[in-house]
Amino acid sequence: MQHDYLIVGAGFAGAVCAEQLASAGKTVLLIDKRPHIGGNAYDVRDQHGVLIHPYGPHIFHTNSKRIFEYLSRFTEWRFYEHRVLAVVNGDTYPIPINRTTINRLYGLDLSEEQVESYLDSVREKCEPIRNSEDVVLNSVGPDLCEKFFRGYTRKQWGLDLSELSAGVAARIPTRTNDDDRYFSDTYQFMPAQGYTAMFERMLNSPHITIKLSTSLDDIKQQAGWRHMVYTGPIDTFFEHCYGTLPYRSLRFEHQHFTDCTQYQPTGTVNYPNDHSYTRITEFKHLTGEKHPGTSIMKEYPQAVGDPYYPVPRPENEANYKRYVELAKSRSDVTFVGRLAQYRYYNMDQIVGAALKCTEGLLNG
Ligand code: FAD
Ligand code: UDP
Repeated sequence: MQHDYLIVGAGFAGAVCAEQLASAGKTVLLIDKRPHIGGNAYDVRDQHGVLIHPYGPHIFHTNSKRIFEYLSRFTEWRFYEHRVLAVVNGDTYPIPINRTTINRLYGLDLSEEQVESYLDSVREKCEPIRNSEDVVLNSVGPDLCEKFFRGYTRKQWGLDLSELSAGVAARIPTRTNDDDRYFSDTYQFMPAQGYTAMFERMLNSPHITIKLSTSLDDIKQQAGWRHMVYTGPIDTFFEHCYGTLPYRSLRFEHQHFTDCTQYQPTGTVNYPNDHSYTRITEFKHLTGEKHPGTSIMKEYPQAVGDPYYPVPRPENEANYKRYVELAKSRSDVTFVGRLAQYRYYNMDQIVGAALKCTEGLLNG
């Protein structure tokens, strides 16, 4: 059967494109090599009945009313503000660094203004800011950098802070007040019935045919579509002709504790300096579910495995640009998504990119 569009990948990028194209009356074949929809945002009940995120904790946050309202067509929301503690020398402190972090760590009792002066006295002013090390030293100075950032970053990326673009560490703000929320966006919510349920509603259209456990390689000889939207790794699409773009991978270790209602005080606890995992997430905090036991996940970063993070560094960006040039010669394919655009995008940014992409396809 001929479809108007083939969409490769049923994560946020692919699902939003499919929904928008189908709403405009186009027929869509949506494939994913995984056996489920949702991409990395997929959630599912584990064998103990706890809703978990198999590919790492996903917390929705955005400042975009448009994106929030768009997704609200497919889900109700549960208000949730994520909080994270970091373990340093055996004690837990709020991260992002705030007034509480500094006062508790150094045994001080500084006011907001005094914290500002304190940070001014310890920060190493860098001009221009060239990389993530500059970002951290410029905002909190060397001691806090070593305690909270350098070790975590080394584990997460296998690189030193100085080897990563500024945008990586710039994701984490520094606060002088007591705000201990991980994000400060206007809209911070979790889909009330979970992400997978939201994707199911998004994709519930007679114009959308879904084929799971199907990779592009399985079907590319069929050519039963007019245009392709590709959301997988761009270097794989072009058979790595300019070499491999590095992606950081993760191994996830799940554990369930019966008769333990709460494993840790916040949704996530970070371990910047201890253990080979970066963080532990307890899902009940995120979902608000009640259960006599609890399920947690540890994230172990690794170089090999499924691609989860593009690695933001100038040389990778330069190589990605070569693939972008190549992509321009393929007017039959549109590339969108975290892997296809090689961007460290959050979910809301992917929704925005996919909405823009379909506007272009439908009007362009
Ligand atoms: P993906 O979700 O990766 O979907 C791409 C899909 O394409 C995959 O399902 C893959 O199987 C499929 N695919 C690839 N190649 C092929 C092929 N050749 N054939 C068929 N199928 C193919 N964002 C937030 O906003 N908040 C968070 O708290 C957050 N936490 C995160 C935690 C972790 C550990 C990770 C890794 C990411 C997190 N993100 C978070 C980012 C979020 O996951 C992404 O922004 C979003 O899921 C990207 O959607 P996507 O559709 O571009 O990619
Ligand atoms: N980071 C850190 N210490 C922390 C938290 C974050 O050094 O306790 C740095 C690290 O380099 C990390 C980056 O900030 O990769 C971005 O953190 P974020 O929590 O946004 O990562 P994600 O949730 O995307 O894995």
